[in-house]
Amino acid sequence: MISVQEAQTIILKLVESLQETDSISLDEATGRILAQSISSPLNFPYWDNSAMDGYGIRFEDVKQSNSDYPITLDIVAEIPAGINPKQSIQSGEACRIFTGAMLPDGVDTIIMQENTRKEGRKVTILSPPNYLGEFVRKQGSFYQAGNILLNPGSYINESEMAILATAQCSTVTVYRRPRVAILSTGNELIAPTEKLNPEQIIDSNQYALKAFILNNGGIPISFGIVKDEPEIIKQKIRKAINTADFVLSTGGVSVGDYDYINSILAELGGKIMVNGVAMKPGKPLTVAKFDNGCIYFGLPGNPVSALVSCWRFVKLALDKLSGIQGDYEPKLITVKSQDNLSSKGQRETYIWGQLKLINGEYVFTLAQGSQNSANLINLALTNALAILPIGVTKIDRGEIVKVLSLSN
Ligand code: AMP
Ligand code: MG
Repeated sequence: MISVQEAQTIILKLVESLQETDSISLDEATGRILAQSISSPLNFPYWDNSAMDGYGIRFEDVKQSNSDYPITLDIVAEIPAGINPKQSIQSGEACRIFTGAMLPDGVDTIIMQENTRKEGRKVTILSPPNYLGEFVRKQGSFYQAGNILLNPGSYINESEMAILATAQCSTVTVYRRPRVAILSTGNELIAPTEKLNPEQIIDSNQYALKAFILNNGGIPISFGIVKDEPEIIKQKIRKAINTADFVLSTGGVSVGDYDYINSILAELGGKIMVNGVAMKPGKPLTVAKFDNGCIYFGLPGNPVSALVSCWRFVKLALDKLSGIQGDYEPKLITVKSQDNLSSKGQRETYIWGQLKLINGEYVFTLAQGSQNSANLINLALTNALAILPIGVTKIDRGEIVKVLSLSN
């Protein structure tokens, strides 16, 4: 069986980033992946402006001023933000100016209000500026017109939205969202809306995976529950691989008599690239590639196993498919464990729990309750997975552990 690292390498090699794009309005761009590079014909700041409420002056006039020899200037103009000043400021003069207001000709430095005393139409400078240009935001000092502001592959979040707006990008070219088909296999499964008989299990995976896809920028396409009947499974899978970029199915990939997925994938022409990974939970993972480019992830049926496989592998594959620029590595951090952690040591073991901030330091705490891959109940207490490598059977409270952070 291959290692987790080997599986990651194989999976990422199979994935090609989407090239198709959507042109959308800026209002809809949050959470999308930029497919163009962005630059602006404008400098930032657009023009010299004041960083303070105070007085615009000429540095030469006041550089000698101090408390023994305070210098007094005539206030000849008042410039609020949003006004284009017409009057230029001469030697011996000052203008009242406010934060964000455009500097008039002649002014090269701002004295903050707190360092002045105003009497009628005159202002006395109580302490000199520290340097020529103090408290002036110079035109182009943040950004020179024509340079790159954002690169293709950027995830558009609040900062990027601010930049796109400032660059007057009212429409934005983004990669199209990945389409991901989701199907649940198993004779025992029913939808949450159906009446539960004693022998049945409610299909929770469908909903967990849908949320996972939505949270990672994809479009989930529900194929519902499929009975463990080879012909029906085959039909559904054929349709799914012709509809979606990725297909996620749960169940039917173990070695049980009703586990048909692998043979069906092969019959449909899929090349099986991963068939089992040395990890716990999540050992029965199948990954196959089809000629049309679709990648099939046959995930284990147990609810925790299915999600651990998504968090560990599908997340990175989806990021690459989406066109996000990055190294496609899991978000691993090293923290102290608050609890004793244990593993049989034979497979890379993922233990679910929480990263908690205690006295300014992140620590890992175990999710209380059974660490059983069928126990989806204590997953609600989970925002991270502690990882025990092969050969490590325990990590004691207070020791360092590697943790996969699940927060986006
Ligand atoms: P399988 O891999 O098909 O043998 O399934 C392993 C375990 O996961 C069984 O106990 C199933 O009942 C359970 N299971 C499979 N699919 C789902 C699902 N969609 N939702 C919840 N549990 C499931
Ligand atoms: Mg099954």
